[in-house]
Amino acid sequence: MRVCIHRGSKQIGGSCVEVESSGQRLLLDFGLPLDAEDSSIQYLPKIVGLDGSDPSLLGVLISHPHLDHFGLLAHISPNIPVGMGPAARRILEAVAPFLPDKWPTPTKGWNYQSEQSFNIGHFSVTPFLVDHSAYDAYALKIESGGKSIFYSGDFRAHGRKAVLFERLLNNPPKNIDVLLMEGSSIGRIGDGQQFSKESEIEEQLVKILFATEGLALVHTSAQNIDRIVSIMRASKKTGRKLVIDLYTAAVMEATGNQNIPQSDWPEVALFIPQSQRIKIKENTWFDLLKHHSTNRIYIEHLQEAPRKSTLLFRPLHKADLERGKCLAGASYIYSQWEGYWERGDNDMLKLWLDRHGIPKHSIHTSGHASTTDLKKFVAAINPRKVVPIHSFMPERYPELFPNVEAHDDGEWWEI
Ligand SMILES: [Zn+2]
Repeated sequence: MRVCIHRGSKQIGGSCVEVESSGQRLLLDFGLPLDAEDSSIQYLPKIVGLDGSDPSLLGVLISHPHLDHFGLLAHISPNIPVGMGPAARRILEAVAPFLPDKWPTPTKGWNYQSEQSFNIGHFSVTPFLVDHSAYDAYALKIESGGKSIFYSGDFRAHGRKAVLFERLLNNPPKNIDVLLMEGSSIGRIGDGQQFSKESEIEEQLVKILFATEGLALVHTSAQNIDRIVSIMRASKKTGRKLVIDLYTAAVMEATGNQNIPQSDWPEVALFIPQSQRIKIKENTWFDLLKHHSTNRIYIEHLQEAPRKSTLLFRPLHKADLERGKCLAGASYIYSQWEGYWERGDNDMLKLWLDRHGIPKHSIHTSGHASTTDLKKFVAAINPRKVVPIHSFMPERYPELFPNVEAHDDGEWWEI
């Protein structure tokens, strides 16, 4: 097998790896760089046959539904099959109508089942479900010509599915020649330090929700299902309902998992902000709305009983909350990557919060494994080589892990 990291050898985001065996090729992830200004064609890696004209390109295998791993799929031929987790695929399909035109909906292909191998041409592929902040995320084992690669995708050991990490440590894939392993947290957290567990996030949320006199606005990604569960559990413990919008209701349903909060649960309510009402009308999504309307509430409800609600907040709610005079005693809890604030994405929101005297709290934990957990992972898999990917600090790998062999973007190498 030959391998080329097209992007990701020295950066987080935009991952794309090509593997080749006896003239057949597969792509592992097809991501948009995190610092991309748009999702345009300028970020496409130089790969032969993306227009579907070259039968040697057998398909694209996506590790998980984060844009920095699949965000360029809109630019490849629909004739190239795409593999991913079935729930991940449903989520991307469910959110597509809510998002701008260039949102990539994956074409048909392989639906992963954890630890069930399948063949694509000369390759044997085995997905392993992992714990990550994206739902239905996988590591991928690729075998061909007597050689094997284990591509970690993004993973952690401190989320709600930490048991998957333990399972992998106790029963690791054998005879791995190359471990392509993410190292997002290297340089972001001290060696030996650990991130908060998702269960600790829940406890921190309980404290703030309890102390908040009015409406609790929790700003997170609707696709971070682990976090939604934490927010719902914390809300329940503090006598609040979790108030979601139609987008979130559609994501929750697309998980296909009845243990994940759903719009018809008694502890969940549906509130449609004005901008979404317009979209529903324009796109005639009346069936979708009706389907999720069992617990529908209106602005008056938030106005009358703010202490009984946690709103899964997005900036598009601002006008509704202002008009409805729902903000007395409110607090704002930011529960995603702090970098979005640091780089100014939320400057307008900051002004709005200041104007209403709403305090900001930050409660978050990483979607990525600590260096301690990465070391455990390498020790368990015991690969012949560790190749850095999805890290801003590949130069630190050799002091953390044995048998490191770094490769540049665009370089082809033989296993
Ligand atoms: Zn990710």
